[in-house]
Amino acid sequence: MNAGLPNDPGGDALERGAREIAARLKDAGFRALWAGGCVRDRLLGRPAKDYDIATNATPDEARALFPRATEVGKAFGVVCVPWRGATYEVATFRRDRGYADGRRPDAVEFTDEREDAQRRDFTVNGLFYDPARDEVLDYVGGRADLQRRVIRAIGDPRARFREDRLRLLRAVRFASTLEFALDPETEAAVKEMADTVRTVSAERIQAELTRLLVESPRAGQGIRLLERTGLLRAVLPEVAAMAGQEQPPEFHPEGDVLTHTVIMLDALQERDADLAWTVLLHDVGKPPTAATGRWPDGRPRVRFDRHAEVGAEMARAILSRLRMPKQRIETVSFAIGNHMRFKDVQRMRRATLRRLIGAPTFPLELELHRLDCISSHGALDNHAFLEQAREEWRDEKPLPPPLVSGHDLLAMGIPEGPALGRRLRRVYEAQLDHPEWTREQLLELARRDDGEGSASARR
Ligand code: ATP
Ligand code: MG
Repeated sequence: MNAGLPNDPGGDALERGAREIAARLKDAGFRALWAGGCVRDRLLGRPAKDYDIATNATPDEARALFPRATEVGKAFGVVCVPWRGATYEVATFRRDRGYADGRRPDAVEFTDEREDAQRRDFTVNGLFYDPARDEVLDYVGGRADLQRRVIRAIGDPRARFREDRLRLLRAVRFASTLEFALDPETEAAVKEMADTVRTVSAERIQAELTRLLVESPRAGQGIRLLERTGLLRAVLPEVAAMAGQEQPPEFHPEGDVLTHTVIMLDALQERDADLAWTVLLHDVGKPPTAATGRWPDGRPRVRFDRHAEVGAEMARAILSRLRMPKQRIETVSFAIGNHMRFKDVQRMRRATLRRLIGAPTFPLELELHRLDCISSHGALDNHAFLEQAREEWRDEKPLPPPLVSGHDLLAMGIPEGPALGRRLRRVYEAQLDHPEWTREQLLELARRDDGEGSASARR
């Protein structure tokens, strides 16, 4: 209980502010503790992302001490204190009352630190630290779980997940980003209740999934944990369907579509949400397009005709459903629709290649291609060819971003589906061919273009 924290390996400006705020509260006669994630991260020897302060001062008392503070949620007893260029949350010790909506407490009551620890989600998030005494305060067994590297709900896991369904996803997100195991009882409760996560708002689900993908050292293992707990089926059924989808062993010796995707996610080197979502969804069009035929010698043959285009539109639908920012939807959907062209780059006309390389999304697409190759057949000749070609065109300006987006086409009443992606690509090509055309002219072209059967549609 009495051992302090290891030094912050990152800069100390944030920590200094947290000390000063706690000291001012203490000097005024209040209890002031660092709480939650910052204590967890510092005990793990990592820099804290932010410092939350928990206190027995009421919001009004805290605001009297920090005149520039603003009240964010009076009902929740949280005050935001701007300090040395950062903002700190100062929250009154509280217990939560009633969760009629399965997400937020109906009311809170101010209480002491012991009860405040009990309302938190997982033991490793329920720790306090008293900076004045350099003392960790552990009312929930959080230090032992940090040692064992376990995510365990505080109290009865079923009751805690019933209060707030978002915790189901948080459990898996923390397990994946910290590379901790789920405590067996907590995991059993997640499995039992996984379907109920659907009542959580799309924005919150999206934010948790994005953090899992971007912050996990091995995002593929995070997806596996979502799968194992049943959460994947609940929030991303199209991805869950990739499990067990067999593919040709000559291109994919590693196994089914989900296995391939998990290997790629584990190999991600950059913390980039656009790339991570593109990787996750790049082959989502395979299960619905799978068709089994035979090779001339009679062996069975699986094909996935137009899976890239189908996948691009599925990605658009999935990401829209999750209320993803529009720009990300466009980027991910475009890169997925394009990804099968990378196998033909060495046979492409130079003008076509120039466009491929000049696209604003090219760096992301090239990395997707590299991950795709190293996670399957392993051949990197197209990748090497593209790097060389990019070197050749190095000094040329990147191509302009598309003036007409998928959202524009949908707004025109053009139905979702692979044809939409093709139409979008034709309009972009027209934009590149005619730099003088305005957005209005391109929209008009998009409206008139019925495209099917034209030469470019068959490419
Ligand atoms: P990170 O910021 O890395 O996601 P964190 O632990 O700081 O981790 P926050 O979401 O910032 O997580 O929340 C701060 C603290 O508030 C948590 O450590 C936890 O104690 C508590 N908390 C947050 N969300 C919930 C929740 N849904 N249910 C119960 N307690 C929560
Ligand atoms: Mg936090």
